[in-house]
Amino acid sequence: MGTNLRLHILGCHAAAPRTMTHPTAQLLELRNHWFLIDCGEGTQVELRRYGIHFSRIKHIFISHLHGDHFFGLPGLISTFRLLGREKELHVYGPKGIKEAITLLLKLGQSWTNYPLIFHELTSRRSEVVFEDEVVIVRTIPLNHRIYTNGFLFSEKPGQRKLNIEAARKYNIDMAYYRKIKNGSDGITEDGRRIKNELLSFDPRPPIRYAYCSDTSFHPEMIPLLKTADILYHEATFLESEAHLSTKTGHSTARDAAIIAKDAGVGTLILGHFSTRYASTQPFKEEAQRIFPNVALAEDGKVFEF
Ligand SMILES: [Zn+2]
Repeated sequence: MGTNLRLHILGCHAAAPRTMTHPTAQLLELRNHWFLIDCGEGTQVELRRYGIHFSRIKHIFISHLHGDHFFGLPGLISTFRLLGREKELHVYGPKGIKEAITLLLKLGQSWTNYPLIFHELTSRRSEVVFEDEVVIVRTIPLNHRIYTNGFLFSEKPGQRKLNIEAARKYNIDMAYYRKIKNGSDGITEDGRRIKNELLSFDPRPPIRYAYCSDTSFHPEMIPLLKTADILYHEATFLESEAHLSTKTGHSTARDAAIIAKDAGVGTLILGHFSTRYASTQPFKEEAQRIFPNVALAEDGKVFEF
């Protein structure tokens, strides 16, 4: 089986960028889309470091307007212009993002030469923000110090696979092949109807990725995560700093693991680590006491599913 989803971690640390730790940004490859999720300071440098073609990014999802999640956006938007971009760029983020970016462009008299389209979010309920034939993206309302959304990226169910041997055996008219892939029965050359199940295989189950950063412990998100294969959940702190976590609207590794367990996700990826910790290994240990399948985000790491 090939790779269906690829997640590049460009940065997975909280607060200010440092030499070896970068603020939040991820690139998700799903069904030929390259979605950029959050855009902390220096994201364009990280994109270059990992050889990711800027022109393939058409949709950017911003969770909230804290600097460590979007200060890289004006720079990236400007660089797109310098590179002569012509393709549309869609930015999804909290209300205010358009004002913030356009003010910077206005003051610098540096309007983009490509269409820059903002989709401002205000809803406290989950809503669909992007949809095409293969993928649907909806918000996951989170609970942070300011208005924040996570995002659930879901593949749509694929077509059924034609069982070509069976189709030949039953003498199915080739004109029906396409309909069979869409779930219809087949008709033989002499006019008999053959059930779809006998002529096709089930499609691969659709894959789903949930991105949740930043948030305090927020079980209200669980119903939305029920179908997620992969959950990225912030774990800014360990339980030993639970008081700081509560105070700042963040989660501990244990909080993230409880959400993963109760939602029954496949894999939990922890990230958004506070730079106060020298090692991220204790995050994994703390989470694994509750939920076994835990991975640690790491700047530059690529996850494949
Ligand atoms: Zn934040």
